[in-house]
Amino acid sequence: MLGATSYFPTPFPGETLYSLCARFHQVSASDNPLRTRKALGCDRTCFGFADVPIACQNLITKTALGHSISLPHLIERHTWLPYFSPFLSEPQLESCLAATSSTRRKRSLGFYLSTHGQLRGKYCEECIVQDNIEAGQPYWHREHQPAGVFVCNRHRCLLRVMDDVWLKNHIQFLTLPDHPSIKAHSAPARCANSALLQDIAGLTERLINHELPLERLRVDGRASLTLVRATEAIAAQLPFWGEFRFLALEPAGFLQRPIRQVLNGDKQYHHPLLHIIVGLASQSC
Ligand SMILES: [Zn+2]
Repeated sequence: MLGATSYFPTPFPGETLYSLCARFHQVSASDNPLRTRKALGCDRTCFGFADVPIACQNLITKTALGHSISLPHLIERHTWLPYFSPFLSEPQLESCLAATSSTRRKRSLGFYLSTHGQLRGKYCEECIVQDNIEAGQPYWHREHQPAGVFVCNRHRCLLRVMDDVWLKNHIQFLTLPDHPSIKAHSAPARCANSALLQDIAGLTERLINHELPLERLRVDGRASLTLVRATEAIAAQLPFWGEFRFLALEPAGFLQRPIRQVLNGDKQYHHPLLHIIVGLASQSC
């Protein structure tokens, strides 16, 4: 097996840590992904598809990756911390940074970042073709994975979504998106309102890339009635599956509690997708 200290792939733009490790596994010629994972010193959370990974420090210190990127840049460009960080309190952000930078595999954040229905791998078939041409191989893209993202911003097409139960049991196999097992256990995202899904994907990517004024996504004090009505109008258009079930209007036509809290200027952590829905509503006001 090729040593991780002598060679490690240089990350592609927006590549996830799982993808980096999968590419290393591929070139290492090992037939045992668990042994690769052990050699990399990676916790299972390092391979997560939509959460902040734990113990990234090991990837830097145990492999040659540290020759091409520093730990702060790895976290900034290849994890989901930039997606969550604008909505975290200072102690929460410190906890995330400490856990992400740690070498202790079992370290916990002490709070939850994710929502139900979020832990699914997603990929774009057209990106596979384009990445093969431009990068020489396909990879898992960070901007495809966050909650509510079901459209590729590059190609404006629906992503394919992994069977989450299958993925949970096979994530350790370190496969890239062109592996036959990935296509066999995924299906195109269901399309309820493609314009709205494109808006959500676009705003999510801009959030990750720090291209959004955050005041558009956060409400100070109480939201105006206009913004509440605009949020209700968007919630009414959301599909009723996956993570959207926790955002759609209640049967009586009311917004669900978490999004009402965001609109009331509640300072507690709320999932970024809630802020993105409010951000879309404020754009339409
Ligand atoms: Zn694409």
